[in-house]
Amino acid sequence: MPELWASPKPFGIGEQHPNNFWEVFRAIWENRDSLDYAYRILDQGVCDGCALGTSGIKDWTVTGLHLCNIRLRLLRLNTMPALDGEVLENVKALQSQRSRDLRGLGRIPYPMIRRRGEPGFRRISWEEALTLIADRIRASQPEHIYFYMTSRGVPNETYYAAQKAVRALGTNNIDNAARVCHSPSTFALKAALGVGATTCSYTDLVGTDLVVFFGSNVANNQPVMMKYLYYARKAGTKVAVVNPYREPAMERYWVPSDVESALFGTKIAEHFFQVQASGDIAFLHGTLKHMIGEGWLNDDFIRNHTAGFEELRSLVERLSWEELEAASGVNRKQMRDFARLVADANRAVFVWGMGITQHTCGEDNVHAIINLALAKGFVGREGCGLMPIRGHSGVQGGAEMGAYATVFPGGLPINEENAAKLSQQWGFTVPKKPGLTTPEMLELALQRELEVLWSMGGDFREVMPDPELVESALKTIPLRVHQDIVLSSQMLVEPDDTVILLPSTTRYEIPGGVTETSTERRVIFSPEIPGPRIDEARSEWEVFLELARRVRPEWANKLAFAGTEAIREEIARTIPFYDGIQNLKKKGDSFQYGGPMLCAGQKFSTADGKAHFKAVNIPQVSLPAGAFRVVTRRGKQFNSMVHEDIDASTAATRDGVLMNPLDARRLGLLSGDRVRLHNDFGTYDGKVLLAPVTTGTLEIHWPEGNVLVDPKARSPLAKIPAYKEISATLERTNGAEQREPVLKL
Ligand code: SF4
Repeated sequence: MPELWASPKPFGIGEQHPNNFWEVFRAIWENRDSLDYAYRILDQGVCDGCALGTSGIKDWTVTGLHLCNIRLRLLRLNTMPALDGEVLENVKALQSQRSRDLRGLGRIPYPMIRRRGEPGFRRISWEEALTLIADRIRASQPEHIYFYMTSRGVPNETYYAAQKAVRALGTNNIDNAARVCHSPSTFALKAALGVGATTCSYTDLVGTDLVVFFGSNVANNQPVMMKYLYYARKAGTKVAVVNPYREPAMERYWVPSDVESALFGTKIAEHFFQVQASGDIAFLHGTLKHMIGEGWLNDDFIRNHTAGFEELRSLVERLSWEELEAASGVNRKQMRDFARLVADANRAVFVWGMGITQHTCGEDNVHAIINLALAKGFVGREGCGLMPIRGHSGVQGGAEMGAYATVFPGGLPINEENAAKLSQQWGFTVPKKPGLTTPEMLELALQRELEVLWSMGGDFREVMPDPELVESALKTIPLRVHQDIVLSSQMLVEPDDTVILLPSTTRYEIPGGVTETSTERRVIFSPEIPGPRIDEARSEWEVFLELARRVRPEWANKLAFAGTEAIREEIARTIPFYDGIQNLKKKGDSFQYGGPMLCAGQKFSTADGKAHFKAVNIPQVSLPAGAFRVVTRRGKQFNSMVHEDIDASTAATRDGVLMNPLDARRLGLLSGDRVRLHNDFGTYDGKVLLAPVTTGTLEIHWPEGNVLVDPKARSPLAKIPAYKEISATLERTNGAEQREPVLKL
């Protein structure tokens, strides 16, 4: 279909876009010492990258290859040998290394310990490590111990076993990486529809009338989604993007596994609506205002299947166009264009990412998207759906397994009744008070009240706002345990008393195999894959339970599983919608909990059986005079793991400050000028890159931009940090003579 070609130049030579073929050669070179094992992981395992979900290199959506550059980059973490323990004997030199260099040193070989005042780590046995940790936990208040789980390839079985073990220790202080991505989506979807996950399947994207991406760059974060969109475009689906930045890779993409697209690229999104940062609710209200005024709604659906529309109608009708334009950064005509696009679609899927959730109004942003979908009845029908797309392969299952401070397994609220039920099932007392989220835990540490932190993967220094404050908090904790496959910078933070490193297995090394849950709610079996092993690395689920048995020997027989199969059997008993997980035993086994579509037949699991509109207010943003709205974005990286200094999609360096040319002209700036962003929380030094980002908004990379994030700004329910809601002033820091002779305005 030449009309969809992005460029007549073969392979887009000379165009700015990622070279995915080069990534294949790079992966072969990087894994050359274990190519057969690397191949087996790709061929048999479930991808440990994003949550799109695979079985080997196939999926359930399209035929052909399912493989992307993220997975190829992550492969080495699974095949690399152990590091030489001697490098950790003195951590001073390591402290100045970048995280990617630390990871590149190799796998953690054996348990290690570092005491206060010691220059580095020394080897200890598992027995010594677990005895020391158990003794310390026994001597601590349960509210003063904390467990965090990353999403790095972590399977459902590990989340389930860990949360059970932690609850046996007398606390609900366990949280995971899902908190910082889609926790607001879960709250809003549950309130509006009675479900907490994507309502449709990926197959609904192909051939539907319209797919809209809100605050999401799947080309970067879920690359194989672009293949689905390629087929969708060929089937006549329109693709629109609502985002401050006209993401180049969302506009044109070269799908490497399809000959036509690999050669000529494909035009993917044709409609862009460039809201300003925090402008989504105003934009969506403006869209609805047009649709109400024009009578473009699905009145039957609203009347028969929903509640709360009149309140929303009266709110949007009261809002003036001037107010909506000022708050959204988009004019009335553009809102009408979007309204027309939505109105013309009989079926549509709305997809959103962290551009929507990582705000103090994260839950309301999601409600505003749901409102628009409900206005047209885009749920519970084929080709329709709401999709909070997940960026990490563990996060969908992590919270559903209950590895969460605010819910029990199955997403049940933490309260007396649910605690009593679980206590009866598990045979020990389950605490009934919600635990702390990670930002709350760090606040407790700053008050010197946290006694033990167990961090399974993750790197708070990189992920949480205000890295300096985070480091200060980590330094106050008497015992820190870091359980991981490779080194991270937080492990090297000076001990208050003791830091212990524990070596973990990857998901491919766990006997009995494991499962993950994808964005489309598909629970997928990933088998154990034969290959080289790190001798002393242990499966994380076993370690958690062994710790719990040591602390609570009286409950030892209740805190043991014969293997991952036994965990799956208990998951099926504890979480009714996971019934079926116990039958997953070999490569390719999977099932979608809830079936291909939730809310099928437009029946909703809310108390009144209806879908609920919510009249959400436009957030009030007060910008200091002359300040910009600033959002953080991903470059060539996987979540916080940076892979390259330059993003091949945008040409931005890691310190790039993406700025609209009109803003640059107003301030007398040229591309390449050094600038300093400043606010109450920190300063950020970067380099101007002229880019099609909306005026008044700047984009900088995450996690580097965390220095500007207000550590106290969180959404009210999910308590997600507001990584996309920064305001900062900007000044040029280079003189005219130091300017790089590049682009003229
Ligand atoms: S798109 Fe996601 S699931 Fe698919 S291969 Fe890439 S990282 Fe893995």
